[in-house]
Amino acid sequence: MTQIPVIQNPETVNPQDLTAKTNLLGMSKAELSQFFAKLGEKPFRATQVMKWIYQFGVTDFYQMTNLSKKLQETLDKVATVIPPTVKFKQFSEDGTRKWVFEVAGGSLVETVLIPADDNKQFGRKTLCISSQVGCALDCSFCSTGKQGFERDLSPSEIIGQLWVANQSYMENVPVTERENRVTNVVMMGMGEPLLNYEPVVASMSLMLDDFGFGLSKRRVTLSTSGIVPKMYELAKDIDVALAISLHAPNDELRNELVPINKKYPLKELIAAAKSYVYDENPRHKKHVTIEYVMLKDVNDTDEHARQLVNLLKDLPCKINLIPFNPFPHAPYGRSSNNRIHAFSNILNQAGFVCTIRQTRGDDIDAACGQLVGQVTDKTRRAKQWQEKVSKTLQSKASH
Ligand code: SAH
Ligand code: SF4
Repeated sequence: MTQIPVIQNPETVNPQDLTAKTNLLGMSKAELSQFFAKLGEKPFRATQVMKWIYQFGVTDFYQMTNLSKKLQETLDKVATVIPPTVKFKQFSEDGTRKWVFEVAGGSLVETVLIPADDNKQFGRKTLCISSQVGCALDCSFCSTGKQGFERDLSPSEIIGQLWVANQSYMENVPVTERENRVTNVVMMGMGEPLLNYEPVVASMSLMLDDFGFGLSKRRVTLSTSGIVPKMYELAKDIDVALAISLHAPNDELRNELVPINKKYPLKELIAAAKSYVYDENPRHKKHVTIEYVMLKDVNDTDEHARQLVNLLKDLPCKINLIPFNPFPHAPYGRSSNNRIHAFSNILNQAGFVCTIRQTRGDDIDAACGQLVGQVTDKTRRAKQWQEKVSKTLQSKASH
């Protein structure tokens, strides 16, 4: 049987060319309208098909009952709806679900779904989505960073993670009774989303779109290590919540933990965060959360907390303390619960709303910052890094 190639970029597709099928998953509303225009169809077909794909999880054009028979046949010939391939999935007792996807080229990326504590059927379910294979930024406490950067994900590979997560609740449910269960999305999986800007913004637009996943803008969060120029662009392009991975209250320490700080130091980062919260229109006030990973004896002292209070004093934000998730050869330990609470008290007393992230899904290795980790390493960075850590430990031992 001859394989029909699937083409991601609609610009390159001639719908008359029956040797190539266009993947409709991840196409924007405008791209889809154009696609239907090329087929001689009205633009509203785009929103009809979007509803089938994103709200009912339907991929078979013959099940899209409000399309004419002729259009169903044409679509079946020229188009397809293909999410990334699920290589592995694991559903944990506490409701946490994890998928490892194999994306074009054989790379692996990971997605994790974390339910609210009560794990109610229709309760909050947060999906942690990846935006790149690996990451170029090499933060010293992050296992993704240790793998190096492989490639950007396409919109279909990004939105496909959300599609598959919702689909996992739809099996055996009649089409008309299906509904999406994922309530919140955080772009906190592998990769730096602002370094894969267009595909990430296109995917988030589909998350917010009423004909797409229809998520509320407060429930879609992009997490960044601080790519300052892109933060200004983001504020103009889309209205989502922003999480900033700060992790250190001064430049000296942040340069060490989050090396991109050398390019975009704290002063610039905080200015960009302020501008994100207050854009020109006061009704557009956006939400910013500061993420702070708690590393034992590295960034978790009372003095660090006081510096943080001072740094953030003019920025309306919430602070989220993340207990460090250890991984093999990591040169850090997790701060004790007592330390995390003492740190949080200082922030609370200074008037900040401060939460401590619960680590969930530990039994399936699904805690944030752990994504894929051991599954793939196509670069030499992890090996070089492990060698460096062992050398440092040896030299410490010999002194
Ligand atoms: N690149 C983006 C988004 C992906 S990382 C960013 O850095 O924000 C998602 C979050 O997990 C970030 O806040 C990151 O700092 C945190 N993280 C990474 N490694 C971690 C670890 N080992 N333990 C706890 N949090 C970690
Ligand atoms: Fe990349 Fe984020 Fe990990 Fe830093 S913390 S290496 S930016 S994924």
